[in-house]
Amino acid sequence: MTAKILLLPGDGIGPEVLDATARVLDWFRRKRGFAVTTDSALIGGAAYEALGTPDPQATIDKAKAADAVLFGAVGGPRWDGLSFDKKPERGLLRLRKDLGLFANLRPALCFGALTDASSLRPEIVSGLDLLIVRELTGGVYFGEPKEITELPDGQKRAVDTQVYTTGEIERIARVAFALARLRAGRVASAEKSNVMVSGVLWRQVVQSVHDREFPDVALSHILADSCAMQLVKNPKQFDVIVTDNLFGDILSDEAAELTGSIGMLPSASLGAKDAQGRQGALYEPVHGSAPDIAGQGIANPLACILSLAMCLRYSFARVDDAVLLEKAVEEVLGQGYRTADIMQPGMTKVGTTAMTDAVIKALDARAA
Ligand code: NAD
Repeated sequence: MTAKILLLPGDGIGPEVLDATARVLDWFRRKRGFAVTTDSALIGGAAYEALGTPDPQATIDKAKAADAVLFGAVGGPRWDGLSFDKKPERGLLRLRKDLGLFANLRPALCFGALTDASSLRPEIVSGLDLLIVRELTGGVYFGEPKEITELPDGQKRAVDTQVYTTGEIERIARVAFALARLRAGRVASAEKSNVMVSGVLWRQVVQSVHDREFPDVALSHILADSCAMQLVKNPKQFDVIVTDNLFGDILSDEAAELTGSIGMLPSASLGAKDAQGRQGALYEPVHGSAPDIAGQGIANPLACILSLAMCLRYSFARVDDAVLLEKAVEEVLGQGYRTADIMQPGMTKVGTTAMTDAVIKALDARAA
């Protein structure tokens, strides 16, 4: 079966890092027998400029028909004044919703050559390899009521609603446990069961999914605030952290900082498997469209390239290829190649194309 990947470059540096990643994907097609076809479509500000909408139906339909989506980034100051339904970010939100992408995977991997880039001491982050699994479509960002009302005394009252059902917690817990089985076999579930009833239910449901279906995985429960503290104190204690939408938003950004550069961080968003085993999947760098450096050829393509490694691993079960690519990136960093965002004294400063060339050269050397 030929795999179908949809490329959505988007805005700013999105097209630059996605072009680089497409070159790497092409290497896997040519050199590793990966039977894959690609198509591309407009999303975000680019789609708004061409078609008047940031989330064209044709793009959504192509994404649904694809086995995986590789996404660049959307947004930029040019579209700041638009109404919410026309903003570039709407394109990404619509994709998440229409593809049912409820599980957001954010690895924080500290490459040996970059331990000095972290704000923490090298011995705390060296060898770090953790994965945050964040629930992406429920919780307080979506719960109703969500409103600001006027009180009789003239004050205003704002309400957001934190809401989770058993089913929503079960499905994200399953994703986390299944991933832990492919890693070091440990899951820490973070909530606030000491002060929130949604946290009480979260803890109960995660525990019961574990006991019924994943007794071989080591499960611990941790309060989200304590988890935030432990992430900067002793992050290497964690393997997989599973948490809700709000806490996941915060904890994954905190974990990102442990690794030093936003230009190095990949992510995946996965949906539920249907009866045929098909699963919505979108892979994207954590960073945004970086308008400040767009068009200069200096963007770090590694976050997007590492998102391709996640795609090979999770959508196509090509674990060997994913490892090969991650090792090639590690090697290139070890050889001293650095884009401006991760530049260190004594290293070789390169742009997007030269960094991609170096990755492809390292792949060639490893595959020879
Ligand atoms: P950003 O991630 O785009 O940039 C933050 C800083 O990091 C900038 O200085 C930028 O130059 C640098 N940076 C980011 N990626 C880099 C890379 N690959 N190589 C080198 N340097 C890199 O975040 P921002 O500036 O807050 O947002 C810019 C725009 O991106 C906004 O419109 C925002 O809404 C959008 N955004 C989109 C996404 C997405 O598409 N998923 C995510 C975050 C932000």
